[in-house]
Amino acid sequence: MLFKRFYPWRSFSVHRKNFGRNRVLQPSASYTPANEQEVLEILNRHQGQSIRAVGRLHSWSEAIIGDGVQMDLRRLNDVLLEPDGDEFVATVGAGCQVKRLLKELNRGGATLHSLGLIDVQTIAGAISTGTHGSGRHSMSHYVEEVRLARYDESTGNAFIDEVSAGDNLLAARCSLGSLGIILSVKIRCRAQYNVQEHFTESRRLDDVLAAEESYPLQQFYFIPWRWSYFIQHRCEDTAKRSFLARMYRLYWLGVMDYGMHLKILFLERVLRSRRMIRFTFRRLVSLFLIRKWKVTDRSSSMLVMKHEAFRHIEIELFVPRDQLTRGPQGLPKKSSRLQGRKTLHCQRLTSAESMTSACKKT
Ligand SMILES: Cc1cc2nc3c(=O)[nH]c(=O)nc-3n(C[C@H](O)[C@H](O)[C@H](O)COP(=O)(O)OP(=O)(O)OC[C@H]3O[C@@H](n4cnc5c(N)ncnc54)[C@H](O)[C@@H]3O)c2cc1C
Repeated sequence: MLFKRFYPWRSFSVHRKNFGRNRVLQPSASYTPANEQEVLEILNRHQGQSIRAVGRLHSWSEAIIGDGVQMDLRRLNDVLLEPDGDEFVATVGAGCQVKRLLKELNRGGATLHSLGLIDVQTIAGAISTGTHGSGRHSMSHYVEEVRLARYDESTGNAFIDEVSAGDNLLAARCSLGSLGIILSVKIRCRAQYNVQEHFTESRRLDDVLAAEESYPLQQFYFIPWRWSYFIQHRCEDTAKRSFLARMYRLYWLGVMDYGMHLKILFLERVLRSRRMIRFTFRRLVSLFLIRKWKVTDRSSSMLVMKHEAFRHIEIELFVPRDQLTRGPQGLPKKSSRLQGRKTLHCQRLTSAESMTSACKKT
């Protein structure tokens, strides 16, 4: 009790699971420091022990596991936006969630160059895992400086290091938590922009890939049992936000983000009919797809989904573009093993050159 009075940011019995509930974290102690000084104090107190920082635990991999000391930096979440020529640079507290960052940036007329499919990760977690999605580059590509707390090799004491060039910066851009505790990230941002999107359907992958030239931000979904592709054509647009943009968002939320998954859950958990699942994919899913409805909206709304609304396990595969035509049929024994599980499983098939992604949900 006395200890707790001195270290209110320490919690003793922590047992947490990640988003996919496929990893259990049982650290010996857990902290949520409120500032950099507290981070240094914690490091000094636990010299020689294994220490791991975590974000919002949206990783499915072992990158979040550690049985030693855990540090959650959610209270370090300030955002400072500064103009830099035609662009902007933001200094962001490690524990700031991407959605909060986007809101703050938007207030200053800015946004991130690249986004993942969701916006609930922390900036430190996202850059530590090379999170990517829209556009060719990952979010890490735009990181210019990382402020880290780590141990001085000669004294063994904790100190703050700023990494802004060379191999160290490259390492910090995808360090999986192993370079030190990230305190803040300086990331290049751009002026806010609009994105136009519309859907089409095609049976030929060649057509899908050809469309990428006109729609560099597009992504596509391979629909099992229908064996066709739903293409979400997307490109930057100088036009204003569409009058119906808000309605389109509601449509997405209701039909795609929630409706589609609820439908699958109902079939899998209630009806339990493989035949109905196949029929739904073959015939029903496409009924809800409004084709060629062109809508322009703010990039930070258009490029993300509520993909985190339903717990699932996801595997991402990078495929060289020239191999992509071999298609999901040529894919993974591993994924067929997962199909037997009672979680939603999403397999994202990414062309290494184009960052186009195809999703297949079971
Ligand atoms: C529904 C869903 C959709 C997703 N979509 C995408 C996508 O479109 N594209 C994509 O690339 N990824 C995607 N991901 C993966 C996700 O972006 C990454 O797993 C990301 O790391 C999660 O961030 P987090 O804040 O939850 O970090 P965590 O999962 O908590 O941590 C990830 C790593 O970062 C390290 N870390 C966290 N904070 C710090 C810190 N302060 N200092 C040092 N190291 C730290 C941890 O030690 C760990 O190694 C998705 C995940 C989910 C659940």
